[in-house]
Amino acid sequence: MVSPEIRDKYQEVIGLEIHVQLLTNTKAYSSDPNEYGSLPNTNVSVITLAHPGTLPRSNKQVFNHAIKLGLALNGEITEVNRYDRKNYFYPDLPKGYQVTQDATPIVRGGFVDITLKDGSQKRIELERVHMEEDTGKSLHLEGEDESLLDLNRAGTPLLEIVTKPCIRTAEEAGAFVTEVRKFVRYLEISDGNMDEGSLRCDANVSVMLKDATEFGKRCEVKNMNSIRNVQRAIEFEIDRQIELVENGEPILQQTRLFDAETGTTRAMRSKEDANDYRYFPEPDLQPVIVDKAWIDRVKADMPSLPHQLIAKFTEQFKLPEYDAKVLTEQKDVALFFESLCEKTDKYKQASNWVMGPVKSYVNERALTIAQFPISVEKLADLIALIADGKVSNSVAEQRLFPALLDAPEKDVEALAKELDLLQEGDEDAISAIVDEVIASNPAKVEEYKNGKKGLLGMFMGQVMKKSKGKADPKLASKLLEEKLN
Ligand code: ADP
Ligand code: MG
Repeated sequence: MVSPEIRDKYQEVIGLEIHVQLLTNTKAYSSDPNEYGSLPNTNVSVITLAHPGTLPRSNKQVFNHAIKLGLALNGEITEVNRYDRKNYFYPDLPKGYQVTQDATPIVRGGFVDITLKDGSQKRIELERVHMEEDTGKSLHLEGEDESLLDLNRAGTPLLEIVTKPCIRTAEEAGAFVTEVRKFVRYLEISDGNMDEGSLRCDANVSVMLKDATEFGKRCEVKNMNSIRNVQRAIEFEIDRQIELVENGEPILQQTRLFDAETGTTRAMRSKEDANDYRYFPEPDLQPVIVDKAWIDRVKADMPSLPHQLIAKFTEQFKLPEYDAKVLTEQKDVALFFESLCEKTDKYKQASNWVMGPVKSYVNERALTIAQFPISVEKLADLIALIADGKVSNSVAEQRLFPALLDAPEKDVEALAKELDLLQEGDEDAISAIVDEVIASNPAKVEEYKNGKKGLLGMFMGQVMKKSKGKADPKLASKLLEEKLN
């Protein structure tokens, strides 16, 4: 462990590469299905294997996804898209090269704004987003002498997002990946699951003395299957590199693997430079022209993004920033809330219900919000009953809501009546209860009159109990005070 004083001498520099596995019907350059979980080597044709004489074709859906992401990331969409071959040998790369975009990435520039724990904002600048294809999978089974190959994933489409080396801490890196994951899920171009490899993040890390003018040598760390592990890997790597520099040892440009069990990284191979890959233009694929009309079509089809919904929720619905952020963490929750707000104008109450009881219900049962039994109409009726003083908030939460979950088709007010939950708003009835409570507590009434005003709560408690929680609390406390004074 490097001491904080020594660590403070150094500036850490981080750039991320995120591979996003796209949800498409077919692979990037062939009509083989892009399907997870099929029997091994069943989604493989001669095109995936690049047999001589076969010709690949570009997939329009991949472009639509890439343009969507490019627009969401505020990047510039490239008009003339060419492909390049990145040559290397690997058993799970049957072609011996990867079709990618080297010279003409479909998105140039762009940025993502992140918010840090201390509330500050930072803009993470992007280098590019390009389209490429995935490799197959090598399976090294324990106790087996041989490795197995599954080429179903070979040729499935990826987008690679590359940031500028402008990330300065592990926290910033984590916030950035979180934001990108939210984007791809909102856009529905990927499921974004890191533990299944749908979103894979490589971290390039280097350190330099704070007054240095040149970046240090970087290492690229791979194999992190969660955002927390991205942060752990960066933290470890920074310490490791500072220690090397402090000891006067060189940092070797390497690709390193993160080991989640030990929280350490180890060298996998020395890092190739771009010219080792012998990139050259892919001769088998036509350039694809993305004109303004195409971009406009995609634009017209763009869903709302988290920051747009946050703005709507805070400005139009006057919600606190905190609520807006929690409600937009997941797209389905945000959309549920949005449609609830078409049925009620009690926005803050609606937010409390969605963030509280609704989310707890679905989370505890590992459901999606689409599986939540109560419709937004009925939930709005429930909120209206509370707003009209017909049921108290606590009775609604503890009794009416669970009853409605069991009988979501019932009319909410009728159900409240059936369960005898409607609040007593009848002044005479409450007045009678108040009288009873006062009559049965003469000693406490004396104390109250002698200045122990705190007893009001005790009287209220008794009134609510006698009314079985149904007395309108505002009316009850008004009557109590009148009669006691
Ligand atoms: P490669 O294919 O060699 O990994 P890329 O251009 O795809 O190269 O990615 C380079 C990544 O490394 C980018 O995210 C970039 O911001 C980052 N990077 C470049 N130089 C440094 C450095 N000195 N320290 C940390 N990150 C760096
Ligand atoms: Mg790289």
